[in-house]
Amino acid sequence: MKTGKAVSLLLSVALIVAPLNSAFAKTNPSTLFTPKPLAVANPITFANILKRIKDVPTYAYNNAQSSAKANAKLPLALHPVFEVKGSHLSTSNYDGSTKWIKKAMAMYGHFATPTKVYLFEYPEQDVAEIQVKANTLVVGGEDVSNRAAAIYGTGSFGAGSNCQGRTPMRANTTETTGISNIFSGICVGSAPLDARTGVAHEFAHAIQNMQFHHKGPTSRWHRADQYMYHTLPCWPVEGQAVFTGFANLDNLAAYQSIRVSGELHPYLLTGAGGTSATANSYWTPQDVMSYFAQTNVPGSCEATPTFALGYSLGFLTVEALTAIGGPESHMAVVQRIAEGESLSRAFKEIYGITWDAAAPILSQVVATEIMAILDPPTAIKYKAKSTTVNQTFTGAQGCSTYDPASPHVSFAHLQALVNNKWQDVQSSSLNWIPSSECSFISGGGYLAQIQAKIDPGTTYRWVYLGPVNIGSRDEFGRGLSSSSVS
Ligand SMILES: [Zn+2]
Repeated sequence: MKTGKAVSLLLSVALIVAPLNSAFAKTNPSTLFTPKPLAVANPITFANILKRIKDVPTYAYNNAQSSAKANAKLPLALHPVFEVKGSHLSTSNYDGSTKWIKKAMAMYGHFATPTKVYLFEYPEQDVAEIQVKANTLVVGGEDVSNRAAAIYGTGSFGAGSNCQGRTPMRANTTETTGISNIFSGICVGSAPLDARTGVAHEFAHAIQNMQFHHKGPTSRWHRADQYMYHTLPCWPVEGQAVFTGFANLDNLAAYQSIRVSGELHPYLLTGAGGTSATANSYWTPQDVMSYFAQTNVPGSCEATPTFALGYSLGFLTVEALTAIGGPESHMAVVQRIAEGESLSRAFKEIYGITWDAAAPILSQVVATEIMAILDPPTAIKYKAKSTTVNQTFTGAQGCSTYDPASPHVSFAHLQALVNNKWQDVQSSSLNWIPSSECSFISGGGYLAQIQAKIDPGTTYRWVYLGPVNIGSRDEFGRGLSSSSVS
């Protein structure tokens, strides 16, 4: 019975829209979607998030699972998905890929979704075969063969690839039909998780596309592949895609593990469309505010090297928003922007707070998270002799602008020198204490204090993350004190 109602509702929508473009009729929600407040215990809000940064990944992941579950039967979450495998595809990395798409489709099942999804999964030797198949299947006369080749670095896109250790992918949404094509490859050393997160990542771009041109030729921005990037701020473009890919994983532990992997280390684009790891790896909230200012200028941020910060800083922004409002909240912002609203107005409508008021909060969350991710623990931990007692260590250098009201911005730990190698010292929880030594910092500065066991005579130093006043920094942007002897 429920199905019958859904069908008649669809028909009535179709009647209104069919004269304009029947192919898009079934994917055309006639009104803007406003997500309901989340039904979660102890929700994260803009008012409390700075004290709960550690909860953000868990809430974001769980909220995404709840939406995917709740929306799984919505008509827009049931559009067909077809897998087309190259005849030489010998990997199992893509087993279950229809399910991955279905999950991501459900996550955003209240929004326009592609009318159909084709998942092309093929090794490089099958490019020609897939080009033919794609152009046969993709109705509407659009030539997608260039895109089918592009994942291997051929055609008019980008530089060639050596096809080692990568899982190359690209998505496009055909203009006249709203069909999404996801071209997914396989290279020597491709990781199975890359296939899963990558497919969902590309599909998130298809959902973004659909907000911009689901009305077909009558869409305000008809050519979504061109105009989406001219209209959206850059942080959600890759931020939503990375988040959707990671949230597609089956459990929280896998999500938490992948979000701190190398992928999140900020990098910039090079002029040739490649990437380079030359981005600053030391981020203060002020740096993130500057990033927001750049990335909120649609049309120009796409063409700059900072576009690639969407994969790291943009992801963490989207993650924080998902922790607060679920995955539908930021897609509702994108939907509104696609309908012509400003970011300011769309953001206020969905989150009840202006972007200008939210940005300083988000920038602190993002800076704290990225610095925690960039502080890779050393492989070897220092272990003092069992007879050594706990001592209190107070940083002699490294005055912090620490704010007791939002106590997650600065981090510090100790390292001990053993056989000419620095090893992380395990220690009790970190405190920041006000110090007259730091009076030169406006508002008063703080020094780190930690309890740890370090054998007498051992050389040690402090390692700082965050807005700490210290001259020397390592390649990760971490502040380093000079050495002391315990
Ligand atoms: Zn992407």
